[in-house]
Amino acid sequence: MTDYVFPLPAPTTLPIAGTAQLFPVGRVYCIGRNYRWRADEAAPTTMPAWFMKPASAVIPAEVVLPYPPETAEFCHEIELVVAIGRGGRDIDPADVEANHIWGYAAGLDMTRRDLQQEAKRAGGPWEPAKAFDYSAPCTPLVPAKSCGHPKQGAIWLSVNGIERQRADVADLLWSVPELIAMLSRSVTLAPGDLVFTGTPVGVAPLQPGDVVTAGVDGIGQLSMIVSSPPGANPGALRGADASHSRQAYA
Ligand code: MN
Repeated sequence: MTDYVFPLPAPTTLPIAGTAQLFPVGRVYCIGRNYRWRADEAAPTTMPAWFMKPASAVIPAEVVLPYPPETAEFCHEIELVVAIGRGGRDIDPADVEANHIWGYAAGLDMTRRDLQQEAKRAGGPWEPAKAFDYSAPCTPLVPAKSCGHPKQGAIWLSVNGIERQRADVADLLWSVPELIAMLSRSVTLAPGDLVFTGTPVGVAPLQPGDVVTAGVDGIGQLSMIVSSPPGANPGALRGADASHSRQAYA
């Protein structure tokens, strides 16, 4: 038996809708701007940027959304999430749906927006803004063999019953096959990898106690309550101006 210096950590997993099986999560790739945020925005000519989160950032989207440390702008981004079932590199976009996608989920690319602004200003890495604990809640995965490959369907998010984000997955600027093919030209994709495909306009900060309800129609829906920040008095951040950053950033 291999003699590890400490016990191997349990793999990160996501539940699969309607079964007791679990999906073991590998890497988490996130696509930058991939919806039109303004009506007059020109069609993109270059592929969007991508970044990563650790697998350990993924949690089932249930009950509590933990407020992270070191931010006053904990922002929501609802996204269609693609789960890879067969990896590869230099994947042909025409093969992506038939051979490489295992299924889909709705997920939140939670973002410490103030740290992202600082990273953009300083030309620094995005990990402090994006790759923190519990930053990637996901609904149970739905196998493509049951839901098909979504070409349309509302993607939406409400906070305390007030809608903040609504678009349609038909509005994705770069399609899922194009995104998977792009990533596979840069890295070798593997079974278990997740791809967050970008968020529509309307991203904004959350406060402790907010109830976030969100989903992708035909795929999944979540409802979570935002916890208090670690070590802070509950409600300590409520005075922060929540409007100034709304819709301002990618
Ligand atoms: Mn995002």
